[in-house]
Amino acid sequence: KPFLRQTVLDVEESRIREVANAGLGRSDVLAFWFGESDEVTPQVVRQAAIDSINQGETFYAHNLGMPELRQAVSTYMSTLHGPIGVERLAITSGGVNALMLAVQALVDAGDEVVAVTPVWPNLTAQARVMGADLKCVSLKPQGGQWVLDMDALLAAITPRTRLLIVNSPNNPTGWTLSRQEQATVIAHCRQTGTWILADEVYERLYYAGDTANGAAPSFLDVAEPDDRLVVVHSFSKSFLMTGWRLGWLVMPSAMTHAMGKLIEFNTSCASVFTQRAGIAALQHTDQITPQVVAHLQQCRDTLVPLLQAVPGVEVAPARGGMYAFFKLAGHPDSVATAKRLVVEAGLGLAPGEAFASEAQGWLRWCFASQDLSRLTQGVARLKAWL
Ligand code: PMP
Repeated sequence: KPFLRQTVLDVEESRIREVANAGLGRSDVLAFWFGESDEVTPQVVRQAAIDSINQGETFYAHNLGMPELRQAVSTYMSTLHGPIGVERLAITSGGVNALMLAVQALVDAGDEVVAVTPVWPNLTAQARVMGADLKCVSLKPQGGQWVLDMDALLAAITPRTRLLIVNSPNNPTGWTLSRQEQATVIAHCRQTGTWILADEVYERLYYAGDTANGAAPSFLDVAEPDDRLVVVHSFSKSFLMTGWRLGWLVMPSAMTHAMGKLIEFNTSCASVFTQRAGIAALQHTDQITPQVVAHLQQCRDTLVPLLQAVPGVEVAPARGGMYAFFKLAGHPDSVATAKRLVVEAGLGLAPGEAFASEAQGWLRWCFASQDLSRLTQGVARLKAWL
């Protein structure tokens, strides 16, 4: 027998960390490698957690989340997507925990799972940890933009496919499914009996401006409540709360009881003071989220034209998310390039290879920077290095 489960030994370590480690402890590196804003969580949210701790709320909570927070999430989601009752919701310890719970609930060893790539590596790694037989359907790059070949995706999803994993708006490419495409995918998955795990943590970070609610198209807008659909959300991005570890998932109500059991065995519950912070965030969403989105759009619109003007760079503005994903001509090995950029240029980017083998030669730049001049400086370093 292997020392540990072979699947765990085989899962690749994060290539983003590998690059970041090359620059650890160097204060002169402009780091854009991780997917988070450098802006601190709003004061009103932090204060709610402080008050909760001061009131002695230091005990276990409900597996599925505090009723007040589930109600607040229900109200928030219903405003965006039509009625979504508390019986379809679970509060989780971050989006990544919600994703893992969904995969634990749905995937047995040997089950076939289809994932749309490039994608944030945790989504494929989690399925691999469960022993899934993973099949990737790649988006295709076209002039710096990545597009879906719908026929290829539908051909890959057969009655043998247990689960489809799709992240839209997408990390790292910014690709976003249209509502029509979502309707096509869900109709097909109903035929094949395939579950959909939709990672929609970036739904509010959407810049195309072509939807009534301002958010990216969601599978929830085209699904029935009892469809085989789990949608994952997070407080991390829209509320500047990455370090708090708070998220939620939307599922068919018939799944909720089992999800409560799984949460008991994983984390038992999200901490109460964190959930109080989540309630405050949702109460103030109209003040917090539009500001976050407007600033990120400014970041995108600062960075992308500068990158487009660099010879050899191919990039298109992301429809959603917080990343510029670009191809750099003449630099096919993205991990080697990213490491050289750290050491030789003081510029920290994530290698495309971390997200899919077909993204070799691409680099991801998280543009969520409070100070726009850091983006300008970063491009100057890239140009000088080239
Ligand atoms: N999904 C995607 C696509 C992400 O990029 C991230 C964060 N990088 C997450 C989920 C998870 O975020 P968190 O665990 O902080 O909620």
